[in-house]
Amino acid sequence: MTQQGVRQIRDAIRDGSLRAEAAVEAALLRARIAHDRHAALVEIDEEAALEAARAVDTARDAGRTLGPLAGVPVTIKDNIAVRGWSLHAGSRILEGYRSPFDATASKRLRDAGAILLGRANMDEFGMGSASTSGVAGAVRHPVDLACVAGGSSGGSAVAVALGAGAASLGTDTGGSVRLPAALCGVVGLKPTYGRVSRYGVVAYASSLDQIGVLAPSVDDAATILATIAGPCPHDATSAQVPVPDWRTDADASLEGVRIGVPRGFVERARAADAVVADAFEATLAAAVASGAQRIEVEIADLDAAIAAYYVIATAEASTNLSRYDGVRYGHRTAVPGVDLAQLHGKSRSEGFGPEVQRRILLGTFALSAGYHDAFYERAARVRARIAATVDQAFATCDVLAMPTSPVRAWRHDQAFDDPTTVYAMDAYTVLANLCGLPALSLPVAAPAGSLPIGLQLMAPAFDEARLIAVGRAFESFGPGASSNEAGGAR
Ligand code: GLN
Repeated sequence: MTQQGVRQIRDAIRDGSLRAEAAVEAALLRARIAHDRHAALVEIDEEAALEAARAVDTARDAGRTLGPLAGVPVTIKDNIAVRGWSLHAGSRILEGYRSPFDATASKRLRDAGAILLGRANMDEFGMGSASTSGVAGAVRHPVDLACVAGGSSGGSAVAVALGAGAASLGTDTGGSVRLPAALCGVVGLKPTYGRVSRYGVVAYASSLDQIGVLAPSVDDAATILATIAGPCPHDATSAQVPVPDWRTDADASLEGVRIGVPRGFVERARAADAVVADAFEATLAAAVASGAQRIEVEIADLDAAIAAYYVIATAEASTNLSRYDGVRYGHRTAVPGVDLAQLHGKSRSEGFGPEVQRRILLGTFALSAGYHDAFYERAARVRARIAATVDQAFATCDVLAMPTSPVRAWRHDQAFDDPTTVYAMDAYTVLANLCGLPALSLPVAAPAGSLPIGLQLMAPAFDEARLIAVGRAFESFGPGASSNEAGGAR
């Protein structure tokens, strides 16, 4: 796949070897493929993108200073507001809504000179692991159209894999940036909770939601993250922590790095997909050969993490989504002669898809009087216990490593008899959200002809620098590197 990274495009535009207009035209060509064949983009803002690109070229010709991302085309998940664009979060209930404002992340990209190409398809309200539930239809895998792209930021992952933009913003509540990144063979970076403002993000589960970046390489993802991160006056949960320069902090050596592998995690993946477990082991062996130290660590039971996540996420979703009542927000039923309660009920039944309805029911139940203690409170306790054990693990290791997904991309026609089978795809990713930690998925070497496989790294809160440095080192024996000389520096 011919991909051009964020920094390559930016530097080529800066030094005059590439016109921004040409970069955007090339991205638009691929965006059309991503839209038509893969349902990865739901809308392409062609004219505005070309106009913005021409403005970059004009600025350069006039010798004006260019923004740090001038001319770099990016796509944005359909649950992050972009001024003047529709914002549907994959849901019928938001059809017809246009955003009058930019999310902080969109605004920071725009201010840096990035070119916003279009909206990326997703699961309705980010609830899913396959990007099959959005109103715009199911997203198709970049390599095999018969397979899913992972979710819920599947449109973003496919767009990046196809070169429809050099990067994409996604959101990650329980793995939605990392899982599609792994299944599509790109990098997915979820920062620490609070690192990036959630202002202008359609809320799913507010204590878990974070904007993340999908990009061809760790450096590209770090470059975009550096632009969108940092305190924001519009989001009280955005952290007052300075943003370091991750691009230069990164030291790509694994010498002496202690990599914690949670006990039992690889075996779990092996039971689901042995190829994933083998690829993980081979990559870790390469890391150890490069000087890293492998340490076994103990993390509370995976099943408890998944259960706690789905109780907390659905509970928060049930309250966040109560705003779509057919009066203040969203689709209103056209059924005549209804009273107010019927108007709420009918509007919501017509506007929300089946998975979203299931989650609202689950979450409302988990919060209801009499059950609150048994479900929500208990899940919150499990969350605290998991966070404490992960904290302890970081006393003995520098990063945690595990597969991103227990399996590779599955086929669209594969039937799952029970929604919890799909929930289990998030087994490894929900940890970072429950604990608020930064995590990164990057592609690893897979057997010839195999669909992509991702490896996930996790670091302590606000230590994206460590995550990015170790991630860069791991990239040197990733799939792209296997065709080069072994050990080639990046
Ligand atoms: N698959 C998970 C869920 O459905 C995570 C989704 C996400 O991160 N937005 O809740």
